[in-house]
Amino acid sequence: YNPELIRNISIIAHIDHGKTTLVDRILEITKSIDNRKMHDQYLDMMDIEQERGITIKAQPVKIMYPAKDGNTYEINIIDTPGHVDFTYEVSRSLAACEGAVLLVDASQGVEAQTVANTYLAIENDLEIIPAVNKIDLPNANVEETLAEIEDLIGISADDALKVSGKTGEGVEELLEEIIKRIPAPTSKGTSEDKLKALIFDAKYDKYRGVIIYTRIYGGTVKTGDKIMTMSNKETYEVVEVGIFHPEMQKTDSLSAGEVGYIIAGIKEVELARVGDTITSATDPIDEPLPGYKEVKPMVYAGIYPGVPDYYEELRKALDKLKLNDAALTFNPEHSPALGFGFRCGFLGLLHMDVVRERIEREFELAIILTAPNVVYKAKLKNGEEIEIHDPTQFPDQDLLEEVYEPYVKLDIITPTEYMGGLMGVVQNEKRGEFVSVSNAGKDRVVMHFEVPLGEIIFDFFDRMKAISRGYASMDYELIGFRKSDLLKVTILVNREPVEALSFIAHRSKLYEMSKKMVEKLKDLIPKHQFEIPIQAKADGRIIARSTIKAYRKDVLAKCYGGDITRKMKLLEKQKEGKKRMRQIGRVTIPQNAFLAILKIN
Ligand code: GDP
Repeated sequence: YNPELIRNISIIAHIDHGKTTLVDRILEITKSIDNRKMHDQYLDMMDIEQERGITIKAQPVKIMYPAKDGNTYEINIIDTPGHVDFTYEVSRSLAACEGAVLLVDASQGVEAQTVANTYLAIENDLEIIPAVNKIDLPNANVEETLAEIEDLIGISADDALKVSGKTGEGVEELLEEIIKRIPAPTSKGTSEDKLKALIFDAKYDKYRGVIIYTRIYGGTVKTGDKIMTMSNKETYEVVEVGIFHPEMQKTDSLSAGEVGYIIAGIKEVELARVGDTITSATDPIDEPLPGYKEVKPMVYAGIYPGVPDYYEELRKALDKLKLNDAALTFNPEHSPALGFGFRCGFLGLLHMDVVRERIEREFELAIILTAPNVVYKAKLKNGEEIEIHDPTQFPDQDLLEEVYEPYVKLDIITPTEYMGGLMGVVQNEKRGEFVSVSNAGKDRVVMHFEVPLGEIIFDFFDRMKAISRGYASMDYELIGFRKSDLLKVTILVNREPVEALSFIAHRSKLYEMSKKMVEKLKDLIPKHQFEIPIQAKADGRIIARSTIKAYRKDVLAKCYGGDITRKMKLLEKQKEGKKRMRQIGRVTIPQNAFLAILKIN
């Protein structure tokens, strides 16, 4: 153990800019571990992460690099989650490092999220090494990329490195620069200090309980030690400590400057929160590390069992997911339309989607997901302040003093030619306020806006990509709650209010959204043997209406007496489909109707 020879780094890169390839190349060059194991390690990750090309857990790897100065350095590379839903987790992973490589694809240029993450790194006092990647590509535009790094991030690109993770060119130089430019962790504490360790991630293992991913700032931790998590003062006895090689490898101890894991019989990740500080239970430090916060869900949606009998199964599935996902919240709720289910809180839409997919795949449960909404706040006339997680909680107009909605600072980087189009959408359709624009290299700009979170979270990303032919990128960050003129719209199907379809709208969009919603529902709800009116009600009156005409439905009619197996299959399919339907009064409403609000644009 020689902390002078440790370097803890992150690689900040946009998806597809070559982070995985570069890390693979580094592993190969350093021969410090079996390359194949690394792949297995990556393959161990959730399928969903794999398929979507995003990382949710902060996977670390330790490599040994014999440098030109004759010393062998230990470099810990901490991978960071790659999505705006997980900004807090990114900031905590960065807090575990002294430096970061800013990796930019020379054929793509700097993307908005990369800028945001680099700022997070700068806020955490990290030393940044800019590196332009994929220089082997014929359309690599190194000079322009360097200019963008200077313009967008405001750091000098004079000392930037030029690398190709693919050919290996420049990778050794990069490792040498990491050794030279990124400080050893020694200035932040020594092994003589009291124990002070940052939890930068945690994973639940069904045999061993919670595995804490940690960076030790001060002191030493070993098996048998009594430790304490500072936010909740819970104490545990350490069962095992070790490093990521990249597979978990047991060691005698972990000391100041090192990155590794701690297992201490902790039952769920909620008790080992990202950003919390671990200290000794017998000789604790006074002050935890800065930066800890409890992450709060920003998006809520209802999850109901596809078949009502499966309520208990759904609860078990959510309980299990929660063991490994501290950010997920859920509370039982009952809806007249959907029966018993749960109101769930998520960090964002991606988080919601991952949870939905895991329930369906890992637990094989069909679920009904209701339209997500952002969290609102309201002040009532009696002075009470409430949070609104669900349109049904929206107070009656006569009780209501003021409503507030979350706003974000939105940054978009785009080629100049799409600036007008994007500006139009953000200002005219998304209630955004333009703040400023500045140059980002040649023929690109970065635009800053302030926009309600609810306006950009649902379909804005796709709109932006369509307008800019895929070239623009965005990032956003919560800036607070602002007073807003919001109303609740109730949907009536066959004259019965269906709360699960109600939504909250800004007054300026009230009529447009209500009209689109009733039209969309008309398409999504199948015809019945009687006519069904669909109405939208707000401010005490009906403001939009559509009608589903009566129709006699007969599935078998389509088969024209064809062979029996085909008929059977069709019937079977219907049965499957029905699971996701809900009977409301006399009307059957399919699952996708509950998501109609997401599809009205
Ligand atoms: P990640 O999403 O940042 O981890 O990116 P990957 O490492 O998966 O790379 C994305 C794509 O870019 C893959 O098709 C790689 O083969 C390719 N790629 C990565 N590095 C280089 C490079 O240096 N040169 C070239 N030509 N292609 C690269």
